[in-house]
Amino acid sequence: MLLFLNFFKKKENKKEDKSKTVSRIPSKPKKANQRVTAERIGELGEYKINIQLDQLPKEYYYLSDLLVKNPKAKSGYSQIDHVVLTPYGIFAIETKNYQGTIYGGKERKTWLVNGKFKMMNPFVQNYGHIQALKSFIDEKYHDLFISMVSFTKRCTFKVDLDYRKIASNELIVYDVELSEFIHRKVSVLKIHHKEPLLTESDIITIFNAFSTANITDPIAREDHNRLLGTHVSVKKTDTSFSCSVCNKPVSNKVKEYCLSNDKFKGNIYCYEHQKMVQK
Ligand SMILES: [Zn+2]
Repeated sequence: MLLFLNFFKKKENKKEDKSKTVSRIPSKPKKANQRVTAERIGELGEYKINIQLDQLPKEYYYLSDLLVKNPKAKSGYSQIDHVVLTPYGIFAIETKNYQGTIYGGKERKTWLVNGKFKMMNPFVQNYGHIQALKSFIDEKYHDLFISMVSFTKRCTFKVDLDYRKIASNELIVYDVELSEFIHRKVSVLKIHHKEPLLTESDIITIFNAFSTANITDPIAREDHNRLLGTHVSVKKTDTSFSCSVCNKPVSNKVKEYCLSNDKFKGNIYCYEHQKMVQK
């Protein structure tokens, strides 16, 4: 059934123009061995992540762009970029589209991009996401989470080296090494555990629990994005989420990318108009 849906979806996407693919269409959960359509190709970085997720072993499952209820979050929701379910652990992945040098440490609540643009410690943020995910599954799975934050190659890391050590349950990676790090982490866990920690049936149970918790209603998703805008520290006083040129709404990630990038001079541009500025 899932396979059929994806096939159908792929055909549909071919016809879509770029302006449509930029919008936040909640992506359907996919099995790792199935080809991923680049629904959010316009959203920086997502394309490379999808290629990475595609390379995972076929017995892994993953879900992308989950929006779940989280009473502890200010907005009432948590948005999780990707969750990868493996026989040895549950990877919760937060993706970041900043450009420049990332300064950060375990003890710091706030990290810096290029020494000036503030971002919340992404592991604190992802910890919140993981707590939200835990509420949907049995307690016996709660210790199996691994927190991963993925940056694009436009970044340089000046972060705690522990985040790069495979023994850590908090890993910082470049998008292009995402599948390699998942593979390495699983390999290490395999050495320590004779038997898989999750059977296929466990994985499917968790997959279904997250799929059910996922809010697909576009209006709820819009509300979440709007609310987020009021909690992010931005240089501009109007917390607009739209392109300075065409006024088209952009996602939080596109906004953060633009604001952290000197060449946009504090302006927000949609994917199309970023290209214009770059010329
Ligand atoms: Zn625009």
